[in-house]
Amino acid sequence: MGRFVESDRKILARAGAGRDVGAVRTVIYPGSFDPITNGHLDVIERAAKLFDRVIVAVAVNSSKDPLFTKDQRQEQITEAVAALGNVEVSAFDGLLVDFARDQKSQAIIRGLRAVSDFEFEFQLALMNRKLEPNIETIFMMPRETYTFLSSKLVKEIAQLGGNVSAFVPPHVERALADCRK
Ligand code: ADP
Repeated sequence: MGRFVESDRKILARAGAGRDVGAVRTVIYPGSFDPITNGHLDVIERAAKLFDRVIVAVAVNSSKDPLFTKDQRQEQITEAVAALGNVEVSAFDGLLVDFARDQKSQAIIRGLRAVSDFEFEFQLALMNRKLEPNIETIFMMPRETYTFLSSKLVKEIAQLGGNVSAFVPPHVERALADCRK
């Protein structure tokens, strides 16, 4: 009772094949985060439970014209994740897979809100797999109440003077209000 027999060992060895058991499991969560929303935070909290180390990475060479600078976005994220001990904040301006490799990350997390996200995310994941077959993309769904939430909508509502307190942390709400002044 309670002892491993040889066949159990073989099954466990097969299950762990390809993974260095005991190695730190690191995941990158990349995005524009312009600004970080409660939807992003929901995904980060879920990822922090699954991985030893979560790196939230602000993409700087995105074709989008951001409202907040890279440093502002990093500061906003850092404040928002302060209570999560295994979450770090970084930025990258080259290929995501190169950054992931440099960080010794085994995976990339992306959030899926609705079917509309799927096509682009699927294309991106397969392209990243082509570029770096050893890094897996994992999709996470936020709590249902955040499935309609996007940074773009939050910015639009805030710029029109709407209340965004349910969608972003208080310090981000203040930063959005400052942009109107
Ligand atoms: P990007 O410009 O890379 O899409 P975003 O900051 O808009 O950057 O999003 C980063 C990631 O977070 C993407 O995978 C996006 O689908 C996901 N995401 C954005 N908003 C939400 C949300 N409300 N719930 C879950 N995932 C989200």
